[in-house]
Amino acid sequence: MGHVLALAMQKGGVGKTTTTLSLGFVLAERGRRVLLIDLDPQSNLTQGLGVDPSALDYSVYEVLLNPERGTAFATITTSSGVDLIPSSLDLAGAELELAGKVGRELLLRKALRETRTKYDYILLDPPPSLGLFSLNALAAADAVLVPMQMHAYALKAMPQLEQTIELVREIQPSLVIGGIVCTLADRRTNLSLQVEQQVREQYGDLVFTTVIPINVKLAEAPTVGIPIGSYAPHSAGALAYAALADELEARYG
Ligand code: ADP
Ligand code: MG
Repeated sequence: MGHVLALAMQKGGVGKTTTTLSLGFVLAERGRRVLLIDLDPQSNLTQGLGVDPSALDYSVYEVLLNPERGTAFATITTSSGVDLIPSSLDLAGAELELAGKVGRELLLRKALRETRTKYDYILLDPPPSLGLFSLNALAAADAVLVPMQMHAYALKAMPQLEQTIELVREIQPSLVIGGIVCTLADRRTNLSLQVEQQVREQYGDLVFTTVIPINVKLAEAPTVGIPIGSYAPHSAGALAYAALADELEARYG
């Protein structure tokens, strides 16, 4: 049974998509069967894998509308070796359409029932809000990976996320926070180091040892649609995500 991990944080720009993409690529390169699911109408993950969201037959939208169909029909094997269920701009209107469905938080979980047996890792990339798509991601996941940007107030967003996880536990009792990733770190600055220290004091072993530095290659890679591990394999960003994958495999492998 594959591990379903949701990269959740209701703030944008903290590294959810970059982490999903970069980790997913490393794991696939190591021979793990990896499926990435883009639940954000902005389609950053889809585009980061070189897939044009306007030229798709199916997206995660059709999966959520027809969960009994499973996921294979909407899954693309990308040139990087990871499988992707892409997002499309349609998804922006889907939230309203899905809002009236019975069991609307459990659509993705239902759709993944068979799919879970076919992958080692399924990584979910929700949008930066705690709306229906994020609830679907949390309810489908075994564990939440929280990317936390090393900025002032980084910890301020945690109580709301923890409350939401608590709520989702009513329908998915075994949901846990699987780990916290310090992202966009600049260890030359006191602020970054102080925030990292605060996060480690508060969350202890939940925080991965690996820290993801600010690295220009990580910002460039999605603009060419190539994961960092292939675009700049020796960059600090690629090495950090490879180390994070080691830690993840030690926890879940
Ligand atoms: P989210 O999915 O949480 O909104 P992203 O992963 O899309 O965040 O990151 C936001 C922006 O920051 C993107 O343009 C991305 O390329 C860039 N970025 C993310 N992580 C890094 C990093 N470690 N170093 C440099 N740029 C990064
Ligand atoms: Mg994103």
